[in-house]
Amino acid sequence: MRVYISADIEGVAGVVAPQQGQAGHPEHEKARILMTQEVNALVEGLIEGGATEVLVNDSHGQMTNLLPELMHPAADLILGKPKPMNMACGLDAGFDLFCMLGHHSRAGAGGVLAHTTNGFAFAEVRVNGTPMGEPAIYGLYAAELGIPVGLISGDDLTEAENRPLFPDAEFAVVKQTIGQRAARQMSVARARALLREAGRRAASRKDRPAPIAPQGPFRVEFAVTRAVLADQFAVLPPVRRLDAMTVAFDCASIAEVIGWMTALSAMSFAVR
Ligand SMILES: [Zn+2]
Repeated sequence: MRVYISADIEGVAGVVAPQQGQAGHPEHEKARILMTQEVNALVEGLIEGGATEVLVNDSHGQMTNLLPELMHPAADLILGKPKPMNMACGLDAGFDLFCMLGHHSRAGAGGVLAHTTNGFAFAEVRVNGTPMGEPAIYGLYAAELGIPVGLISGDDLTEAENRPLFPDAEFAVVKQTIGQRAARQMSVARARALLREAGRRAASRKDRPAPIAPQGPFRVEFAVTRAVLADQFAVLPPVRRLDAMTVAFDCASIAEVIGWMTALSAMSFAVR
């Protein structure tokens, strides 16, 4: 059984402040250890449940957060960026399960460090009119490949947002939202035990229904945080400028949605 883990940092137990996700900040040096150990706990549980291959993709910021020398020896690791399909780089139809660890609620929602891909650029990302966060978009991409979502971990609002979309996934809630930058944390030890147990359940479940592939076409709309970003994005020929603060793209697949989202996120750095 081949299992894929997309590992973010905002939804890790002990992480509540933007500085904990910023490379070069002393708080980040501590947070990346928390992230690595949570991933290891999940890898351990997945293996106990029957996983024979685990691929972990570092999916936060510069995507060089996970510490290779501390990683579970059984897992392979994708580090760095840019990379195709970004938070799902390397996922292919041969995987049996897609997991998202340390994820967070969407831009415009109230969860801990809530954003969608790029908090500087995107006020909201909508697919066919529905606001979506990273777990929704990448989980639908997995469904497009025929792979079910096995597990999502993060705060309570991440679960509330994504359980309706992925009712057969395990949800590991490691903190309760108080605000954007505050949460009641589960102890690190209990969070790791929870992830290990949820991973074991996710991998050992035999009766999980096949995912329903999302049906296109898709229109993705990016509501931006300032008009200059829409000006920047509007240089792309396929773009549709809906108003001063919104651009849209017509996509045949969720893979294309991810492509535009990743490209716009990178372009946003030109107008910082
Ligand atoms: Zn992140």
